[in-house]
Amino acid sequence: MPLSRLLLVLFCTATLVHAQTNPSWTTSIAPFRIADNLYYVGSQELASYLVVTPKGDILINASLATSPLQIRASVEKLGFRWTDIKILLNSQAHADHMAGAAEVIRETHAKNMVMDGDVSVVETGARADFLSPSPNIPTYTPVHVDRVLHDEDTVTLGGVTLTALKTAGHTRGCTTWTMRSHLPGEPAGTSRNIVIVGGTGFWSEYHFVATPNHPVSYPGIVQDFQHTFAVLRTLPCDLFLGSHGGYFDLLTKLEHYPQDGPRVFIDPAGYKDFVADAEKTFEQALAKQQAAARR
Ligand SMILES: [Zn+2]
Repeated sequence: MPLSRLLLVLFCTATLVHAQTNPSWTTSIAPFRIADNLYYVGSQELASYLVVTPKGDILINASLATSPLQIRASVEKLGFRWTDIKILLNSQAHADHMAGAAEVIRETHAKNMVMDGDVSVVETGARADFLSPSPNIPTYTPVHVDRVLHDEDTVTLGGVTLTALKTAGHTRGCTTWTMRSHLPGEPAGTSRNIVIVGGTGFWSEYHFVATPNHPVSYPGIVQDFQHTFAVLRTLPCDLFLGSHGGYFDLLTKLEHYPQDGPRVFIDPAGYKDFVADAEKTFEQALAKQQAAARR
């Protein structure tokens, strides 16, 4: 496929993914175990993760306003209690990961922890998003942030620690979560590096270069994206996960889950390819915008 066409497809996919019409966003799948203390409780495409500890649980991504019912059903199907969720985390402040937060917090009283660049977005229900107002940035019920996270902060509960990496650009506080955990079926005492990619995409509304007609989306957006790729490139990754199932080919990997179990998510090569592709897509779009600005 010629490069221009490939880019067009990538842009259209990103736009479609943000148009809130994709049925895979709301299609249920059976919840499943990823590591000793990590479970998938999301839909086909919108990933939610439950981290289970002796002192209560952590939910990553409340997803759409309609998702909490589905997430709760998954949590309970696994045998865990909805009200044991003590902490709510997220991958990014867009509605597909955060619109359900108000309901999750109301029902569980979980503490809401958000990366610094996304705090105002979360507390205004996306009205402070740098792209807002836009049909691609649906608003949602604002939620109070209990703890502001900064790059490389850790979240610890019941002896389990997650690290928040600020991988901004897609949103200003886009967060990649990492943890180490033992996998069921692997030798005792071994553990794996788990990476939950926050998001690296963008679409035509993202302005990387100022033009007479339009300023940059936000000052520093290019540096943020480049920092994000530099961080992701060097991150040790055994289990490749993300905020969207499509990032890590969730449905394809799940086909092998009945035989192979959680090891289907061990995919360091797939992770490297994902990051390399995303970086290339960004650098090409940046070059194109720079060339257009010079004309
Ligand atoms: Zn997003």
